[in-house]
Amino acid sequence: MRLLLVEDDDHVAAALSAILKKHGFDVTHARNGEEALQAVLPAANAGRAPFGVVLLDLGLPDQDGYQVCGKIRKLTTTPVIMVTARADVRSRIHGLNLGADDYVTKPYDTGELLARIHAVSRRSAAADPDDSGGGTGGSGGTDEAAALRLGPVTIELSTRRVSVEGAEVQLTRKEFDLLALLAQRPGVVFRREQIISEVWRTSWEGTGRTLEVHVASLRAKLRMPALIETVRGVGYRLVAPAA
Ligand code: CA
Repeated sequence: MRLLLVEDDDHVAAALSAILKKHGFDVTHARNGEEALQAVLPAANAGRAPFGVVLLDLGLPDQDGYQVCGKIRKLTTTPVIMVTARADVRSRIHGLNLGADDYVTKPYDTGELLARIHAVSRRSAAADPDDSGGGTGGSGGTDEAAALRLGPVTIELSTRRVSVEGAEVQLTRKEFDLLALLAQRPGVVFRREQIISEVWRTSWEGTGRTLEVHVASLRAKLRMPALIETVRGVGYRLVAPAA
């Protein structure tokens, strides 16, 4: 899989590149935001997926990493994983709102990072069957239920579109997966481990905070803070709203 590593620290980049190459990734290194955009542009202009995944350090010398993420997202659907030392929930929500697919906080464990890369690219391949950025391209095509309706919220499973009172809401892949999972059984409590296993395809413990961030982001984007209820110490459940 082709991977774009955006990292201004050459030592960090060299060490990470070596690990990624050992795991079969074809790594392109960009040292700043401008180089990153130049690496993405040619393929994006040709309508192709430039990379299987972008690993984006937020602390860059020339541009704010959030801006770079927003620009990449306008050019291509290639998944973006933000890498940063900014661990607070607010900055993570900001990144996810800009279209980042996931968020890793430094210092991270390499195994964790690899798991995230694989999870994100697997989701990407399933969501874009004609995406040439690695993967088998077989999407399985399970369109069994056209749409789930929960009061004002409509969730179209086949097209992965969500609308509230007819107005489409832009969700990231993980936000959609999380909402679709909870919406399959309104009122039923999903355990945190169960959600993490199904949405992130990992049992990695640190994903817990990411789950909270995604729940917070969903509540905000749908403008329905009560839709997803926190069941303390257990997990979450979707509270079906009145039609
Ligand atoms: Ca940096």
